[in-house]
Amino acid sequence: MQDVEIYPASWYYNACVQGFLEVLAWGLGNEGEEIITEQILRSDGRAVIPGDLMTAAFSPRCIPYEGPPLKEVPEKLPILKRIGWWWIEKSFKEGFISNSNKNRKDNNPTDEEKINMVFGRLFHFKKGYYPNLANLAHLKSVKSKVEFLNLWFDVERIDTLKKATCSFCGQKIELNKIDNIYSTFFLLPMSIHLGNSYEEFPNLFWDGTPNLIMCKQCRSYFLCFHLVSKNGFFINTDSLLVNWYLNHLLAGKIDSDYHQSILNALQYNRQLRNAISSWGLQNTEILLFGPKDVRYYPISARLVRLLLIPQVATLIGRIHKDTKLPSAVNIVWEIILQERFDYLPIVIFKSLRAQLTGKNKEKDPEVIFSSQKNDWPVNNLIQLYFTIKQQIANNKGGAIMGNINLREIRQEARRAPLDLNTNTGKNLAYRLMELTRLNKKTEVYHLLLRLYLSSGTKQQFPVPLARLFETNDSESFKAGIYAFIAGLSCSDTQEDS
Ligand SMILES: [Zn+2]
Repeated sequence: MQDVEIYPASWYYNACVQGFLEVLAWGLGNEGEEIITEQILRSDGRAVIPGDLMTAAFSPRCIPYEGPPLKEVPEKLPILKRIGWWWIEKSFKEGFISNSNKNRKDNNPTDEEKINMVFGRLFHFKKGYYPNLANLAHLKSVKSKVEFLNLWFDVERIDTLKKATCSFCGQKIELNKIDNIYSTFFLLPMSIHLGNSYEEFPNLFWDGTPNLIMCKQCRSYFLCFHLVSKNGFFINTDSLLVNWYLNHLLAGKIDSDYHQSILNALQYNRQLRNAISSWGLQNTEILLFGPKDVRYYPISARLVRLLLIPQVATLIGRIHKDTKLPSAVNIVWEIILQERFDYLPIVIFKSLRAQLTGKNKEKDPEVIFSSQKNDWPVNNLIQLYFTIKQQIANNKGGAIMGNINLREIRQEARRAPLDLNTNTGKNLAYRLMELTRLNKKTEVYHLLLRLYLSSGTKQQFPVPLARLFETNDSESFKAGIYAFIAGLSCSDTQEDS
């Protein structure tokens, strides 16, 4: 097969391509991520997938491949194409399976069970990501599901009906007589967000145009949208390479070495730097995915520059990972995307209050909350707010926050003579919070001073805390005290970075 060149297009197309590359990376094993970023994604914004890799991916296990070792299809499924198997495994691994199903078989299902579970989840007629795209009532056996995947992931051309043009990539294609309508036209089962439906009110994102034809390559990508949309957002630029990095970073993959490698890449990778500077990030946008709708935000150059600061991206990623609740994530996103940074202290205040009481009573969506006692996700939000303010101040040439260090403040908080497990401790923290919100600096100072002097432990008033009272910037003062209060929750063993 010829090399497959993919050019960036609409956000939806780019998101699907990203999902498809995720599947490829999975199939390429340990070196997958590296091969994607070093060889397939180019600094000019394109992706170029080598023809021999495509041939191997779209073939079953009996077709040999000369390149690096691929994840192989189980022997029991000799006719299933590799891409189909990778798609199953990647979807399974990314947690599209509900917990009840997972527990049923000790989290260790057989290969056939995996196929059934992924199909059941993704093609469910109501709750699926691709409702009824595969008709589960007809595809009962594993064999029929394998056949479905083999037909869907198909780049051969056969049995011409008439010539047409793919509405997405512009490629000339030949429509296949035996293909059904769902595998040829872009309709609701392909995309719950954008597809048209005969029964439901057409979604107007595509101008209500019904007959969008998709070629076989594009439809392979489209079946990977769930791997991206599960993040709840997609950040889109004119470059598939920049998309790859930014989305991984902001999705909060924080535990792996891979995350570190992305951070390094953002700072040192020349190809990425070229991509960023040459494309200028003019058309950057973020899409937020609701259950059925998509919200779209163009992003200003100022915000893109913020997102490209590894610390900012990392913190957003952590908040995203910590909260898991789509609503909480979206609130923070929306505030950041609208660049309403001064609203973040209100979210912080409400979240602190919820953490102190141990519950988010009114289910306020503007609360970032964890039911775990020693793990307050609001810590990351405070740090994020502070970092953004600092960055904006630096850009303006000011250094008002230069000597305030939230990390040191959190460390002091752990040693502070105040125990949040007692009512006295909680009450004190409340008062501290309330006085801070009202910006009553002197009273905050006296309260803290009394706390340290009367504790009986003869602790000195900590220097990092004292510095807060020297600043004239009320917002950084607030961030500092909030960080102190949130820091009280941390156990000694908790990592603080
Ligand atoms: Zn196409």
